[in-house]
Amino acid sequence: MTTVVLNRPRPRASRERCTGGRGRGLTLEQSLGATLTAARAGDEAECPLCPGTMRAVAGTAVCESCGSELS
Ligand SMILES: [Zn+2]
Repeated sequence: MTTVVLNRPRPRASRERCTGGRGRGLTLEQSLGATLTAARAGDEAECPLCPGTMRAVAGTAVCESCGSELS
């Protein structure tokens, strides 16, 4: 199993929730892994940190909006 790493370029002012509306029944890692897998497959993948769209870049997924990177 591959460990999913989320790199967040800058902290957000507001306190973040650990669980969003998505990924019900999934662990955070499973949810992030699904996002990364979808982005790598060229599917629309929603950023876990903002409403932005993740795009596959050199095997990672990068948010077009906030710049977060999943690898
Ligand atoms: Zn984002």
